[in-house]
Amino acid sequence: MREFKTDIEIARAAQKKPIQEIGAKLGIPAEQLVPYGHDKAKVSAEFIRSLGDRPDGKLILVTAINPTPAGEGKTTTTVGLVDGLNRIGKNAMVCIREPSLGPCFGVKGGAAGGGYAQVVPMEDINLHFTGDFHAITSAHNLLSALIDNHIHWGNEQGIDSRRVSWRRVLDMNDRALRDIVCSLGGPANGYPRESGFDITVASEVMAILCLAADLADLERRLGDIIIGYRRDKSPVFARDIKADGAMTVLLKDAMQPNLVQTLENNPAFVHGGPFANIAHGCNSVIATKTALKLADYVVTEAGFGADLGAEKFFDIKCRKAGLNPAAAVIVATVRALKMNGGVSKEDLGVENVEALTRGCANLGRHIANVRRFGVPVVVAINHFTSDTDAEVAAVKDYAAGEGVDAIICRHWADGGAGIEELARRVADLAASGQAAFKPLYPDTMPLMEKIEAVASKIYHAAEVTADKAVRDQLAQWEAQGYGHLPVCMAKTQYSFSTDPTLRGAPEGHVVHVREVRLSAGAGFVVAITGEIMTMPGLPRSPAAERISLNEQGYIEGLF
Ligand code: ADP
Ligand code: MG
Repeated sequence: MREFKTDIEIARAAQKKPIQEIGAKLGIPAEQLVPYGHDKAKVSAEFIRSLGDRPDGKLILVTAINPTPAGEGKTTTTVGLVDGLNRIGKNAMVCIREPSLGPCFGVKGGAAGGGYAQVVPMEDINLHFTGDFHAITSAHNLLSALIDNHIHWGNEQGIDSRRVSWRRVLDMNDRALRDIVCSLGGPANGYPRESGFDITVASEVMAILCLAADLADLERRLGDIIIGYRRDKSPVFARDIKADGAMTVLLKDAMQPNLVQTLENNPAFVHGGPFANIAHGCNSVIATKTALKLADYVVTEAGFGADLGAEKFFDIKCRKAGLNPAAAVIVATVRALKMNGGVSKEDLGVENVEALTRGCANLGRHIANVRRFGVPVVVAINHFTSDTDAEVAAVKDYAAGEGVDAIICRHWADGGAGIEELARRVADLAASGQAAFKPLYPDTMPLMEKIEAVASKIYHAAEVTADKAVRDQLAQWEAQGYGHLPVCMAKTQYSFSTDPTLRGAPEGHVVHVREVRLSAGAGFVVAITGEIMTMPGLPRSPAAERISLNEQGYIEGLF
């Protein structure tokens, strides 16, 4: 049997081109790139402004069925598809999120693709990269420091220190910091109060950076952040304590998209990385819009399965940024479909067409859901070496029954050469003019009805329940002028329902909205169902224990 190298071994052997050459493929003059070493660069704001009203390329979304703990290979397929499109003579580029440090050292590993479909330099992208997340952490914590300082020096705004909602962030999985008491140690250290840390990707500043059109819009949105409430429950904004200007200064460079390359030397923007639960889970609007001006095909990824990722991509990102996706790829794996059909993780290596066919109900629901947004669909079967011919045939048959092509893709093992058939199909779909994108609900719909629309139409729930406090809160935000915002659902990624163990395509379940949060700067209302962790912990045996530098100075153990 063929020997497979690890992701990091493959990435290290990459024949990278100088970043100026990659920029030249997109028509970016060398002087408009701000290089970070030899293989990473930011694109200048001046160049982005100069793109003006050039025509847009086609936007292709890569999404997936409900994930299993293994990950379905969305990033891997996004990267592979761009290599495939370029191989068949198209001018295509990648647009994906930047990975967070936390999961790298925990269980998930990196997020730069896998096998022969990766973006490089893989180690840099997964670690400090161009420092964007550090800048976001700093901007977020500057606001935190200004809040406590404001209270310390007399609290002119009358912030109720018991109702400060703005916490602190760190790009690390660190459960010890979830709940803290700050300002201990006497009067010189301020007024003690309870607070806590979230992971940087959960910061509203991250979501804002990813939705902002430009620096002016960024500053306006930062000013709109609600930091807490007064005794009369009126909101206090970041603007009220004059934090917006300095935060924008810290984020000036982080706003610029990062250019890197695939293993096959095709261009990729890797920029921004909001959570896919309490935020919208897509790369930055500025990267996507710039990419559309520079390439004929822009392939982008939305986090988690299509019930969360694609829905938010459409209803939050595309709606707000005026994007018109031309086609969507739903990634499915035989393994995950078998799990959706009830097979346990230990038995995934054994052929089981019956369970697989049962699990295909999950795929079918996602196909119907994505089509509901007016976007044509093709299924990518991300091939694993354990898949059997009978299993692959069963997925194709099922998809054909839904009127959709399911195409076997071997980009993980073979790079762009393994995914040409999908590339051709995607190019045809995008050119077919079939796309007529429309969001799921109108801006004018009341907030609770928006939540119900997602729950009934996308999740197939029978009912949404919520306490009076939650309903009153939504009504209050509507009265304050936030009723036009889209909703951002925070739900388990493993199921259409709120029960992570309910795989397949459950019907008639109840979605309970436990809590709602207003991200006034980002511009959405978060509806939280179930337990959502905004500061993950590390597992008993974290990946960090196996990460080190070898004698040549190369990083080992990153995956
Ligand atoms: P997602 O974006 O859906 O979370 P990724 O593309 O990051 O998933 O892939 C998750 C992991 O699965 C990566 O480590 C990747 O190397 C691995 N992987 C993806 N596709 C395959 C495949 N066809 N065979 C084996 N491993 C794969
Ligand atoms: Mg991914």
